[in-house]
Amino acid sequence: MIYLDNAATTKPNEDVIQTYTQMNQQYFFNPNSPHSAGIKIAHLLDKARENIKQYLNLKDPFNIIFTSGATESNNIALQGMAKAKKRFGNTILTTKMEHPSVLETMRGLEDEGFNLKYIKTTNDGKLDISSLQELLNDDVVLVTCMHVNNVMGQIQPIEEISRILEEYPKVHFHVDGVQGFGKVPLDINLADSYSLSAHKFHGLKGSGILAIKQIKSIKQIIFGGGQEQGLRSGTVNAPVNIALAKAMRIMNDRMEGNAQALSQRGKEIRAFVEQYKGVLINSPIDAAPYILNISFPGVKGEVLVNAFSKFEIYLSTTSACSSKKSSHNETLKAMGLSNLVIEGSIRISIAPDLTNEQIERFKDAFDKVYKEVKELIKYEL
Ligand code: PMP
Repeated sequence: MIYLDNAATTKPNEDVIQTYTQMNQQYFFNPNSPHSAGIKIAHLLDKARENIKQYLNLKDPFNIIFTSGATESNNIALQGMAKAKKRFGNTILTTKMEHPSVLETMRGLEDEGFNLKYIKTTNDGKLDISSLQELLNDDVVLVTCMHVNNVMGQIQPIEEISRILEEYPKVHFHVDGVQGFGKVPLDINLADSYSLSAHKFHGLKGSGILAIKQIKSIKQIIFGGGQEQGLRSGTVNAPVNIALAKAMRIMNDRMEGNAQALSQRGKEIRAFVEQYKGVLINSPIDAAPYILNISFPGVKGEVLVNAFSKFEIYLSTTSACSSKKSSHNETLKAMGLSNLVIEGSIRISIAPDLTNEQIERFKDAFDKVYKEVKELIKYEL
């Protein structure tokens, strides 16, 4: 098979699986237990936390909170900070291009009485800086934006946003880093909090982190035994967290080679698709090279996904999280694309280990699929 759905999830690295298995065999203890075995695993967990801080180049006062993944991290950060800051202001800002774990959390806060405002989007899917500046005022307490978009791959101007927010010290700036980590450089210290899911960088599912500065002021949203500094109660899954640190180390070690491979292969696929009349490339030219969103207007994305599946090529419609929903993808809508283009869109997301031989097979299959659906493509939009 040829796996081109890496933005949905990646194949776990063998070494990461091995670490996880070994930890479960030898160190299955509860890190909160008072006996020496519990203390030992608590030490290993602290070491993993320190390593993660190093791999992410995080400075103090950042803390690492282990979670079940970015959905939980985003919820903890956004709900917890909005509630903590309520007495200072009531306005919260985001874009319509965010992942549902951010967008729906922000909408939930709106239902609770927060004044939710959407920062506009430019035609190439970036957060519109002038719109952000217009919306900022003394009532704003929370701003959130993703680093790399999961549907299109566009890279958001995190540095610029952070510079602007320096003038608004009561604003908490949360960054959803899921699709960018290890592939697009970012100084995470520019954010006040940052979330990741391990399974997006060849780690395991059900595992993630929240890196957060203001650990003292945030309100907890999960109640229980008080693990993870009170933010994520529940018995700590030490093996999965230590495996996450391992996956991160491997990503860091390979960062340069991976970036080169992704850029070269991404460009090759883009240039190939560009040759096909009527097929549109939705991802902006300066997007991260590993996510390519394209459309066959007039053909349904699902039909294309099925057609490629027959060649054992696995890719996605818009994004796995929203592909089962009938509503149009919000990122594509926010970018002003027509319904025909949105319905005919598919996402090709690659990993660095994609071989030349696989690319050739993909090209061959693409050509066959194109010929199959060519008559249906609408050229006048
Ligand atoms: N944010 C982004 C940008 C994502 O792509 C995803 C996963 N699709 C998430 C958050 C949520 O991650 P998880 O499903 O692992 O909680």
